[in-house]
This record gives sequence, C-alpha cells and structure tokens, in this order.
Amino acid sequence: MSAGQKSKVRIRKGDIVRVISGSGALSGQQGKVLKVMPCENKIIIEGINYVYKHIRRSQENPKGGRIQREAPVHVSNVMFVCPSCQKPSRLRMETDAVSGKRIRVCKKCDKPA
Ligand SMILES: [Zn+2]
Repeated sequence: MSAGQKSKVRIRKGDIVRVISGSGALSGQQGKVLKVMPCENKIIIEGINYVYKHIRRSQENPKGGRIQREAPVHVSNVMFVCPSCQKPSRLRMETDAVSGKRIRVCKKCDKPA
C-alpha cells in the first residue's frame, strides 16, 4: 500500500466479488468473500486463488501431505459484484433516510447493496 492511501475496504464477508487483475488465471473469476482482513486490505474468496499448504504428520493427519487453501487477494484486485444488477460496480456510502444508518449503494443501479 502506498503512503497516504487510506484503507477503504467496503467489501464485506458474504459479498460476491470478481477478480479484475492480478495473475492471469485468476482474472475474471468470481466468488463469495469468506473473510475480510481490513488491516492488510486483503480478502479471501471462496474457491479462488488456491494454494497448496503442506501439513506435517500429526495424530489427525497421520500421513501428512498437502491441502488446498484459498490465499488472500488484495482488494485492489477485485471488484464488488452488485446483487441487484449483477454487474461489477463501485459502491458509495449513503445515509439511509429512514434508519439513519450508513448504507452501501451501487453506483450503477443506485440500489442498496
Ligand atoms: Zn447494482
């Protein structure tokens, strides 16, 4: 993260995101956010960016071996996919007139996301 850049992670757990850049194979893939790591500006997306993790032999895993796990993706490499218009879009924050709560609004279709 470059100096002066403020963390603006508006993506939340459960959102659908699309990978827009990064390593070739990942680009264009879409999935559900499993975890958000705001400090690092990274997220983990279900089924995307698998890496192999080696496990030592243990009682639960007498054979050891390796498992597949999702590796974190930087938020700048993904775009939020709006549940209303199904398009990758940006979000803006608005104050809901009724509840007074801060809500996320899709910049493409103006619906709350
Ligand atoms: Zn939308």
